[in-house]
Amino acid sequence: MRIRKLYRFENAHIVRGCSSRRCSESIHGHSYEVELIFASDHLDRGQMVYDFGLTKLTIRELIDSFDHAITLWSGDDPDYLRDMKRWSRRWVELPVSPSAEQYARVIFLMVELVLANTVMVNKEKNVTIESVIVHETRSGYAQAFKEDAHSPQMGVIELGSIQFSDGVRDEWSDPSLWERLLRGEKIINPTKI
Ligand SMILES: [Zn+2]
Repeated sequence: MRIRKLYRFENAHIVRGCSSRRCSESIHGHSYEVELIFASDHLDRGQMVYDFGLTKLTIRELIDSFDHAITLWSGDDPDYLRDMKRWSRRWVELPVSPSAEQYARVIFLMVELVLANTVMVNKEKNVTIESVIVHETRSGYAQAFKEDAHSPQMGVIELGSIQFSDGVRDEWSDPSLWERLLRGEKIINPTKI
């Protein structure tokens, strides 16, 4: 059984090395839509794969980190990185370029980490993230599955190398959320939301 949850965010980037000069040489923005496809072979007490309300907690907080932010690639020009961080309160730095393809891989790994650390309390079982679809425009999207997210030939993504600015962290329910997840600290789902 599959369920799908949609998220939206507005974000700015440059995609170095791509064929289009507008994309590779100018800071620009997109209204992103991100679809998460969850899967399970079981249903919980509510006879659901995973209550949509639960996807509005940590997972939404992490995806919302990209909203009204600029996303940077750590391999970009150091002067550019320094200037963007100086002039934008909200930024996220990734070890890969912020193309729709890499967004799909990064978000897949983030959600996978959250699910791995989540203590399910409503008899959910075997809930996995099957796929992440990132729509950068109305006409094009990228879709990542597990093998894509973990593919070294597409660029190794060490989750610990993803950086969120203080401006992003300050809006989380806990500014140390990411460190806690990386340490493997458990998140106990609320019994009622
Ligand atoms: Zn773009």
